[in-house]
Amino acid sequence: MIKVRNLVKQFGNTRVLDGIDLEIQKGEIIVVIGPSGTGKSTLLRCLNFLEQPDAGQLQIGDIDVDMNTATRQQILAVRRHTAFVFQNYALFANKTALENITERLIVVDRWPEEKARELAHRILERVGLSDKADAWPASLSGGQQQRVGIGRAMAAQAEVILFDEPTSSLDPEWVGEVLSVMKALAEERQTMLVVTHEMRFAHDVADRVIFMDGGSIVEQGPPSQLFQEP
Ligand code: ADP
Ligand code: ADP
Repeated sequence: MIKVRNLVKQFGNTRVLDGIDLEIQKGEIIVVIGPSGTGKSTLLRCLNFLEQPDAGQLQIGDIDVDMNTATRQQILAVRRHTAFVFQNYALFANKTALENITERLIVVDRWPEEKARELAHRILERVGLSDKADAWPASLSGGQQQRVGIGRAMAAQAEVILFDEPTSSLDPEWVGEVLSVMKALAEERQTMLVVTHEMRFAHDVADRVIFMDGGSIVEQGPPSQLFQEP
């Protein structure tokens, strides 16, 4: 289980996250929706310390950390438990699809190269890219690149995968294949926190939908309840 208490983030004098409380159960699929500029992406980025929170307490795995004063070592430990999928894929351009997945395992987690490559091959198969192991990102479609991005997150074997608008940069023709990879992960009960405008996905896949506005969670519940027609 992951627990966040009183998460606050300000940019200058603007309070973008206004004391967020959030608990995520193991295996839970949460979709975060809400108007643009309400802090959805900032919430995810704070959970991964891509932004430095101004306040907040985070419990994840065996870590319990004051988010404002977290040490470098605590931040690395949190990142190990929170894999991130970026809107713009953020792949290494000078590494192949396979190397994008093995990189962290070899460099950070000190896996033997052969073991890392084996896992990466299995993951590429699961995201439907077994024939693209040696392809450079630039030669892949947006949908294929994002599936590598998801594969990289899967390889981290993190407590939770954070998806930050994973289909928003894609041409419409590639959205479906990325969503179906995410759906397959959800069916395996990979814990996921997903910021997306894909309401069909939220409706069909989420256990819980969180509606954010003005830096706060204003409503949450199962999609059947939240998307009820008035
Ligand atoms: P959402 O994901 O809901 O669209 P964001 O979390 O991206 O919202 O942004 C929330 C607010 O914080 C917006 O007003 C945005 O302009 C602002 N913001 C985001 N990142 C920064 C930054 N690095 N510096 C200053 N303001 C930022
Ligand atoms: P459709 O009506 O196309 O089948 P859904 O019922 O899944 O789609 O969702 C309809 C729309 O209603 C979504 O775009 C969603 O943003 C909006 N909506 C309905 N209720 C809420 C709510 N309580 N909070 C946020 N958005 C809501």
